[in-house]
Amino acid sequence: MILPSRCIQSTKKDALYPSYDAIVIGAGIAGLVCGSFLAKAGKKVLIIEQHSIPGGYCTSFKRKGFVFDAAVHHIGGCGKWGIVGRCFKTLGIEMAFYPLDPMDHLIFPDVSIEIPADLDEYILRLQDQFPLEKSNIKNFFQEFIKLYRATFNNEKSQIIDKYKNMTYLDMLDNFFLNDEIKMVLSGQWGYIGLPPAQASAIGMCQMMINYLKDGAFFPVGGTQEFANAIFKKFIDLGGHSMLSCKAEKILCNEKSAHGVALQDGREISAKLVVSNIDAKQTFF
Ligand SMILES: Cc1cc2nc3c(=O)[nH]c(=O)nc-3n(C[C@H](O)[C@H](O)[C@H](O)COP(=O)(O)OP(=O)(O)OC[C@H]3O[C@@H](n4cnc5c(N)ncnc54)[C@H](O)[C@@H]3O)c2cc1C
Repeated sequence: MILPSRCIQSTKKDALYPSYDAIVIGAGIAGLVCGSFLAKAGKKVLIIEQHSIPGGYCTSFKRKGFVFDAAVHHIGGCGKWGIVGRCFKTLGIEMAFYPLDPMDHLIFPDVSIEIPADLDEYILRLQDQFPLEKSNIKNFFQEFIKLYRATFNNEKSQIIDKYKNMTYLDMLDNFFLNDEIKMVLSGQWGYIGLPPAQASAIGMCQMMINYLKDGAFFPVGGTQEFANAIFKKFIDLGGHSMLSCKAEKILCNEKSAHGVALQDGREISAKLVVSNIDAKQTFF
């Protein structure tokens, strides 16, 4: 379902408060989710977004009748027990998704593999394609799942200590000799933005297991609908928004942030400021 654009607009000027419990800078998915949870907790929240639409990298645009997604092409964790699924359930957001299977098709010069959206099936497929690595594949994924589970535990754990400073390539080297399987198991590194020699083992583990255990999904209507659905819920929960509005500066006293200055010179105060934008821009 395409949400009518009248839902996606700024709060009317005269309805804005002079002061908020929290201001969230940036209506990317993280900012929208954060703002919605704060609003659900009864806080007065304002989200400030420089673009005319919410979503950040999770937006779409139209050209000559075709809809293009700006970045995101599939989302993990949208099932009932996944991170997105649980977030949406808690916030009361209804959204339909197409499950994608296979989720990806990796093609290298000498090897290609379709990645199923199911861990056990992927393990079997890899073992079939790399029979000499059969037991290494089993051991690798056993460790990977242990590491994945440990990251959801707040307690100190040996496995986190072991991998916290390790790159994904170091981890692969500990399990495999064959370069081709290392290449295949690294094929999705683009999703966390760093090659295996620089990516953290824990980061890759989070991303891959999340997809493999809970599947990959595409929101019905496109990625903009995903962002719009959260934005609409935020507004329904009483949140305020300023679209096409750039935050210029976070106002701080010696100890804490107390508001945001906008590019047009206005200042809005808040007890809490959440920056959902690039860390470098935030601090410098
Ligand atoms: C090419 C590409 C493909 C990707 N593919 C996938 C994928 O398939 N699946 C997946 O799960 N992830 C994918 N990702 C990653 C995913 O898009 C991001 O992790 C996620 O969208 C980031 O959300 P965010 O809320 O943290 O930040 P962002 O989306 O970056 O949101 C930040 C927001 O802050 C706003 N902003 C910045 N400065 C200001 C300011 N001064 N004042 C007001 N507003 C400001 C921006 O306009 C933006 O809307 C992809 C990323 C890229 C780049």
